[in-house]
Amino acid sequence: AKGAGRNRFSYFTPALQVAALNRMRLTNDLRSAIKGEQLRLYFQPIVELGTGIIHKAEALLRWEHPQRGLVSPLEFIPLAESSGLIVDIGQWVFDESLRWVRRWREHVHPEFQVSLNQSPVEFQREGGTYDVWLRALRQLDVPGQAIVVEITEGLLLDASTMVTDKLLQLRDAGIQVALDDFGTGYSSLSYLNKFDIDYLKIDRSFTRNLAPDSSDMALSEAIIVMAHKLGLDVIAEGVETPEQRDLLAAAGCDFGQGYLFARPMPVEEFDALLQAQVTN
Ligand code: C2E
Ligand code: CA
Ligand code: CA
Ligand code: CA
Repeated sequence: AKGAGRNRFSYFTPALQVAALNRMRLTNDLRSAIKGEQLRLYFQPIVELGTGIIHKAEALLRWEHPQRGLVSPLEFIPLAESSGLIVDIGQWVFDESLRWVRRWREHVHPEFQVSLNQSPVEFQREGGTYDVWLRALRQLDVPGQAIVVEITEGLLLDASTMVTDKLLQLRDAGIQVALDDFGTGYSSLSYLNKFDIDYLKIDRSFTRNLAPDSSDMALSEAIIVMAHKLGLDVIAEGVETPEQRDLLAAAGCDFGQGYLFARPMPVEEFDALLQAQVTN
């Protein structure tokens, strides 16, 4: 019986070890990726549905791994969080975003905004405040309104005083807040009143099933009406077809983001797209 137990144990161990080893390797690679400039910031336009104008974009992180090619943030953000590397990475994302949004406010649209993602772990990290961000804003003479922080509703559901304080710190600096993936979590609506939020991002899972008279259409319409009554603007994620865009526009949705307009792209490409918009 003893032998069988050991066999059973050793049967499962290799797979676990391989997975753990893989994670360790990738975490080590990530450490050198930050120094070795393998991180890229892609941008995806957020389009004003009424006019078709682009004056917002979401910054999305990419990792160009020398052997593996592009690694998805869904894969490496969790590793960055458990290793603590997320602090340096988040700071890099902010610095890059700030540099570009400053340029776009000057050359493209005076109220251009860049959204960046803050995972719950990142937002709630011990001791971290946004002092460094605020100093950078002052140094580059960029108003806080140039930056939108995307958070998810789980963070607000049982918000600690730390979360509340950090949100207030951002708001005091003029930085705006968007609620990402709206409708996928708990959707306790009470926190929409409790916190000062500027944007609701309707999750892709709603956009995907939009059709006249569908239940997702009814839900989206209700979300848009409610958001507007509370003074929030609405961004629909995952807009892939002209039909989806038209239904959302007809429902009063303010902004759309998705493959229909453009995929996330390297910053030089996005910059060129914006320059073309200005000269047209
Ligand atoms: P998210 O914040 O919900 O970002 C939207 C995701 O949807 C992006 O995936 C984007 O490429 C994808 N997307 C955009 N339009 C469409 C569409 O029309 N159809 C479909 N099917 N997908 C679309 P991506 O870039 O792979 O990012 C995945 C997630 O990784 C993000 O989800 C976000 O949670 C996280 N992430 C990305 N960059 C960062 C970052 O800088 N920091 C943190 N903490 N998380 C990040
Ligand atoms: Ca997001
Ligand atoms: Ca989202
Ligand atoms: Ca507001």
